[in-house]
Amino acid sequence: MKTRKSLLVIFAALAAWLAAFVSFALPAAAQQSGASPRFDIGASPQSGGVGASSRFGVGTPTPDGVVAIKAGKVVDPETGKTAANQIILIEGRRIKEIGPNVAIPAGAKVVDLSRATVLPGLFDAHTHLCMTVIPKRDAGNYYFTTLLDTTAYRAIEGVANGQAMLQSGFTTVRDVGNAGNYADTALREGIERGWVQGPTIINAGIIISVYGGQFHLQPEKKDLATPEYLFADSRDEMRKAVRQNIHFGAKVIKIVVDDQDYIYSADDIRFLREEAHAAGLKLAAHCWTHPGAHNAAEAGVDSIEHGFRMTDDDLQLAKKNGVTLVGTEFTQKMTEALGNPWEHSVWVDRLKRAYKIGVNMAFGTDVDIALPGETCGTLAIEYIDSWVEAGVPAPDILRAITVNAARLLGVDKERGFLKPGMAADIIATPENPLENIQTLKKVSFVMKDGAIVKE
Ligand SMILES: [Zn+2]
Repeated sequence: MKTRKSLLVIFAALAAWLAAFVSFALPAAAQQSGASPRFDIGASPQSGGVGASSRFGVGTPTPDGVVAIKAGKVVDPETGKTAANQIILIEGRRIKEIGPNVAIPAGAKVVDLSRATVLPGLFDAHTHLCMTVIPKRDAGNYYFTTLLDTTAYRAIEGVANGQAMLQSGFTTVRDVGNAGNYADTALREGIERGWVQGPTIINAGIIISVYGGQFHLQPEKKDLATPEYLFADSRDEMRKAVRQNIHFGAKVIKIVVDDQDYIYSADDIRFLREEAHAAGLKLAAHCWTHPGAHNAAEAGVDSIEHGFRMTDDDLQLAKKNGVTLVGTEFTQKMTEALGNPWEHSVWVDRLKRAYKIGVNMAFGTDVDIALPGETCGTLAIEYIDSWVEAGVPAPDILRAITVNAARLLGVDKERGFLKPGMAADIIATPENPLENIQTLKKVSFVMKDGAIVKE
């Protein structure tokens, strides 16, 4: 046994060395021979030339020069207005001009979307791209998923899930933890540096929680929640956990308020919020129970995630304190897949009440499960069904899935709108989603940062 073990160690070391050789030597060789730009991680994404190559099957690199989109209709989700016969001129990664009489420069690539409706790329404000529960293997429980899948595997999974989100029209996501040992930071940086194509990611790093996180451990195996959660019960631990996350690449702080019998108090949450805000990050608070949501609403977090058991009073309090609700209203299909079909109507009822009360809402899904014939993108966009069931009108759904989310994520100066100077994150649908919101399930064209990834 021992000999075999040491042989294994040698093989592992050899494999690691080979992997290192491949990742350093091959890109250098490719650059020298002027080969594919996909290895050129030195190139700034601003140059627009480092989109994923077709070997990923997700599209083509950004064309050099200028792209002109001839749009039959352009929807502005902010105002809920539609403009006909617009031309959108894209230069590199950004929108240069938009209007009915924009001149198309000679040599520009022309994309004919004259029969389609064009709108900004969609947002999912609650994803877990680096964790996919395999229902049969994991008994539907992500505790087992985290025990079985390595961080390296989960980073690769994140690449595939990110590409799936793009294909469904989601060009920006907020990825709220459960990524092992910072696979989400690796994914975000890999996309930003052009190694792979994916949505813009605002990632949370490791979820901060009271002792136990979202798991129920046993005393002989206390460490099995590492690295999935950072336990932080005292103020010192909270401050350190926030700072550790920021140091290792988190762009938002995610806490779990209430998955144990002991929960964060409003004062605890205020402390965490101040620590995050001091570094320019927002605070997202997972709240499942009524007391948890109450404390988070009282503390004025940036967003309450789920809010499954929120009362009308707490929805009012959230509204008063400027909290955005990312309600993750699970579809019937998802609640059935997770073994809790009764939950769907509770989600829809809460969404209905939240809309009536007028709390600010951003679209978020919490999809983290592999279902046959589906991707995380196809499952995510189906969440609009819950919104329709709750009676939310199409213009408000469209705002939640674009501009509201852009503001919550803090990227609204860059994304979420089709205006000159904004990033060219553009999608098209066969019909006008203001008239038929279901058309969002049939996104026919996707441009991400000026690169066409679906057409
Ligand atoms: Zn979640």
